[in-house]
Amino acid sequence: MAGKYILARCSCGFATGGMIGKRLSCGRCGSIKNMVTESTHETGRELANSVKTANMPQDLRSELDKRIKKSKTYPKNEKNNDPSKTFTKAIIELSNQNSEISMSKLEVYFDENGHSKQDLLNCVGVAEIEGMLSRTGPRSWIVLDF
Ligand SMILES: [Zn+2]
Repeated sequence: MAGKYILARCSCGFATGGMIGKRLSCGRCGSIKNMVTESTHETGRELANSVKTANMPQDLRSELDKRIKKSKTYPKNEKNNDPSKTFTKAIIELSNQNSEISMSKLEVYFDENGHSKQDLLNCVGVAEIEGMLSRTGPRSWIVLDF
């Protein structure tokens, strides 16, 4: 046996956690007949986490993931809009002619939109890692994939 805690899902769709060997009733509708074991867990903490996730709607889950990722990349930026959005716009507008882009043009663009040089450097760094920009000189890039 894998663990002493179980996660069971009721026919109404709600998942409830409990101990193996004890009668489990649905936390939403109270039914005891239609509980199907979905997983077993070693610890109560593990169980609690999986109950939480099991009852979270799918789209809400990915929305939450997105928000967490975003706030990790740019922790404090309430005053301006998102620098990554400005960066995206800058790439589109500045790379129109020959898909080459220069730091000086980006600096002007970011300055006009109220973002700092550090914001710009962060965005460029991410874009390079993601393969969006490829460096062609100390202060110039070619737009690869966008
Ligand atoms: Zn139920």
